[in-house]
Amino acid sequence: MKNITVIGAGTMGNGIAHTFAQFGYQVSLVDISQESLERGVATITKNLDRMLAKEKISEADKNNTLGNISTFTDLKDGAKNADLVVEAASENEKIKLDIFRTLDEVCPENTILSSNTSSIPITKIAAVTQRPEKVIGMHFMNPVPIMKLVEIIRGYSTSDETTDAVVEMSKNLKKVPTEVNDYPGFVANRILMPMINEAIETLYTGVAGVEEIDTVMKLGMAHPMGPLQLADFIGLDVCLSILEVMYDGFKNPKYAPCPLLVNMVRAGKMGVKSGEGFYDYSESRKAEKVAAQFTS
Ligand code: NAD
Repeated sequence: MKNITVIGAGTMGNGIAHTFAQFGYQVSLVDISQESLERGVATITKNLDRMLAKEKISEADKNNTLGNISTFTDLKDGAKNADLVVEAASENEKIKLDIFRTLDEVCPENTILSSNTSSIPITKIAAVTQRPEKVIGMHFMNPVPIMKLVEIIRGYSTSDETTDAVVEMSKNLKKVPTEVNDYPGFVANRILMPMINEAIETLYTGVAGVEEIDTVMKLGMAHPMGPLQLADFIGLDVCLSILEVMYDGFKNPKYAPCPLLVNMVRAGKMGVKSGEGFYDYSESRKAEKVAAQFTS
């Protein structure tokens, strides 16, 4: 497999494109938004610059990685030569099903179609194609160039051959593939999201403030970041969608999203990507923090 199509240039898509390109694969990065593509490539460039500054890669590595990435706003153009597709578009069932219908039409019959979905059933995605045995979940973790895990999700009809191919591919990217079955939230989010939701509920019911909740989990449980900050990094809209899929899938009230999370997403507070979530990530706030460093 040489030609990889990555769909979606957002938080995950640009990291996935970066990782494949860094390991020498030809990447076609597709997004409906030209602005997202430009932002995605700018993020990859910034991350490569950071690696270069730390002497983890050379100038030639940086240039080769960027040279391996082409961008497309048309899905058909971007996917027609793919050996493997990794779909990382917005966590919305209709968007994903439409994408997979199109991919099934335009991709060669041997192409493996994978999704980075956090929660939408792989079996449901596979069912809109004529090749359910070649559809699989490749759930990368954020930030993709750094995090080792790839949760490999086998749908009901996913073949052993497809599973072996994506396991091998993940190893080529120096990742650790871990196979799980296709039930709501898979494994990572089945365990993570109830914890994040409970942290939000703890805030909502006034037990403690944002900083206190995150401090308890960081210093008390040795988590590298608190659950509220992690939710901001994942995206509050993404957290809400995952909880809704789990609530719907298990019909169990323990997965019901906290009303505060619902309200924040309604208000457009999505976390880091929108500039505000449980914490403030606006440019003015960042400037304030830098200024404080110089005055203290
Ligand atoms: P995001 O909102 O940052 O980016 C989504 C991108 O998809 C946007 O650039 C948008 O323009 C694009 N898009 C929307 N519709 C499209 C279409 N029809 N064709 C092509 N591009 C389209 O989202 P994200 O956080 O990168 O999440 C992407 C996927 O990865 C989701 O399925 C999410 O559940 C999953 N995921 C996210 C995280 C995380 O930490 N954010 C972790 C693991 C998996």
